[in-house]
Amino acid sequence: MNKPIPLSLVRDAGDSLYAAQPKVYPREIDGRFARLRLAAVFVLLGLFYIVPWLRWEGRQAVLFDLPARKFYVLGLTFWPQDFFLLTCLLVIAGISLFFFTALAGRLWCGYACPQTVWTEVFLWIERWCEGRRNLRIKLDAGLWTREKLLRKAAKQFIWIALAAWTGFTFVGFFTPITDLAREAATLSFGGWEAFWVVFYGFATYGNAGFMREQVCKYMCPYARFQSAMFDRDTLIVSYDVARGEPRGARKRSVPSVLARGTARAADAAADAPSVSTLPSALSPGLGDCVQCEACVQVCPTGIDIRNGLQIDCIACASCIDACDAVMDKMGYPRGLVRYTTENMLAGRPRRIVRPRTLIYAAILGALLLAFAWGVGHRQPLIVDVLHDRNALYRETSGGGIENGYTLKLVNKTDRVQHLQVEIEDDAPLHIAGASGIVVEAGQVANVPLTLRADDGARWRGKHHVELVVRSADDSIRVEHKTQFFAPEAK
Ligand code: SF4
Ligand code: SF4
Repeated sequence: MNKPIPLSLVRDAGDSLYAAQPKVYPREIDGRFARLRLAAVFVLLGLFYIVPWLRWEGRQAVLFDLPARKFYVLGLTFWPQDFFLLTCLLVIAGISLFFFTALAGRLWCGYACPQTVWTEVFLWIERWCEGRRNLRIKLDAGLWTREKLLRKAAKQFIWIALAAWTGFTFVGFFTPITDLAREAATLSFGGWEAFWVVFYGFATYGNAGFMREQVCKYMCPYARFQSAMFDRDTLIVSYDVARGEPRGARKRSVPSVLARGTARAADAAADAPSVSTLPSALSPGLGDCVQCEACVQVCPTGIDIRNGLQIDCIACASCIDACDAVMDKMGYPRGLVRYTTENMLAGRPRRIVRPRTLIYAAILGALLLAFAWGVGHRQPLIVDVLHDRNALYRETSGGGIENGYTLKLVNKTDRVQHLQVEIEDDAPLHIAGASGIVVEAGQVANVPLTLRADDGARWRGKHHVELVVRSADDSIRVEHKTQFFAPEAK
């Protein structure tokens, strides 16, 4: 059957390449997916705002201390030498995004992206200060009255306070947050801290308060390349054209085209829009879409899902909740707009296991194992031995030969380490002076070390020496090879 393609006329913008975007006023919605998003907002923002305040063995539990080049995550301390683990973590994050996109579409965009999460909160504040959708539209269109001024001022005040708190919390991941709080109380922020608090706060305010869907549409690179990860079995939010068309208003008593809808209580969706009641003579032959526009009104990006899969759709599922509420009111089965796949829409079964998901899963599994192995086998102590650059050797008055070194010890643990330096092989060398070293928790020690051969006449040229550094309780043992120099044979 040939279907009419809906056309919308675009106003001629003359020679300008810029077309102003109409403001989107997403309508409030309740439903299964709205509650899921609410839970995601609470969990993710809860973690963001609370984690910097958690303590672990006397220090901040999660702190990315850039000046000291140390990252603290609970009981673990990551040093620059652990950089490959950070790289591994970033690759895991990238592959996870590929894997979950191939499996479940834009799950990240709809529920977990910071832009979505903060926009949701800024929208709550907007609704709280300015009212529901119709009131907000009226308020924006109306003259500047005292009430409008007060409502707008209240919204701006709360937005700015939340944005400032967000900027402060963000910086609290990089600077001890208790110190930052003290500095905030006395208005004595350092220059960089002040810059990042303002920058991140301003970015939150601008992106979540004003840019909103424009960030997803025009700025987000993920939105551009995610289609490369899609196939016909990827989960998408879609309108069931076969069931919904031809769309049109009708009386509530007209049965669904599926003719199997159980009548659901109309109060299940108190917020659903009213359905117009045209004479029933017009109703026969219609699909299940009652043309109520609820799915369009709730869409945070302002699109109509009935026009098919669009790059602007962030898969938030608000339109599913809205349409389900309408279907409930009509007594039609839910799912006219639903999570589905292109194959399922075409009547074919969904394949979750397919080559691309298997490949992503295999790479992800391998990387996770490598990361876990890397974290589990991190060296708690780094030992570096630098030979004295000024003199290869010294001849002592007693006929012996000495070589000088600098021992660099990095204690990556959270405990003071009492270390002992020994010579591993049977070489007739010994350490001149004390061989015991104490290195404070998380500190680097540079210690001079002298190796001496008492019988210098036996030594000629270059010799390999293996040093062993071990902790008092033998829980740490690190071997390091170096060289011992003596005069060349004459
Ligand atoms: S079309 Fe539906 S799923 Fe897509 S962004 Fe709009 S409301 Fe969300
Ligand atoms: S909410 Fe459902 S019934 Fe209403 S216009 Fe959208 S698709 Fe049609």
